[in-house]
Amino acid sequence: MEKLKETGLKLTPQRIAILRYLDGNTGHPSAEDIYKAVSKKFPTMSFATVYNTLETLRQRGTLLELTIDPGRKRFDPNTEPHHHLICLRCKRIVDIHNAYALKVPDEMRGDIEITGNHIEFYGICQKCRSSKD
Ligand code: ZN
Ligand code: MN
Repeated sequence: MEKLKETGLKLTPQRIAILRYLDGNTGHPSAEDIYKAVSKKFPTMSFATVYNTLETLRQRGTLLELTIDPGRKRFDPNTEPHHHLICLRCKRIVDIHNAYALKVPDEMRGDIEITGNHIEFYGICQKCRSSKD
């Protein structure tokens, strides 16, 4: 929450509710998930308010936008370097905190100095593997 307060956003009650929902949230929610959760408390809040707040946080670097789910953008308040694993059926995303020693050959890297990486792992979770459809 402190980190999010430092973004200099004007803290309206709606925005505070969005920030609270995101704080420590490891579920990688979509904008729709966030809207559903927060509009329970603020029924008059529009989806545009949620979307614009997420976009502002993303631009300020305090929220990551993940593209691992092909169906919809997902958001992650944890901006520390880590990787992700998605269940392709239920779209659950889990964090992978592990350092992989990946080397990019110099001839491919060219003159770009590498500062990080993000690996997307794909799979099917236990629950989805055992459900028949
Ligand atoms: Zn699953
Ligand atoms: Mn994450």
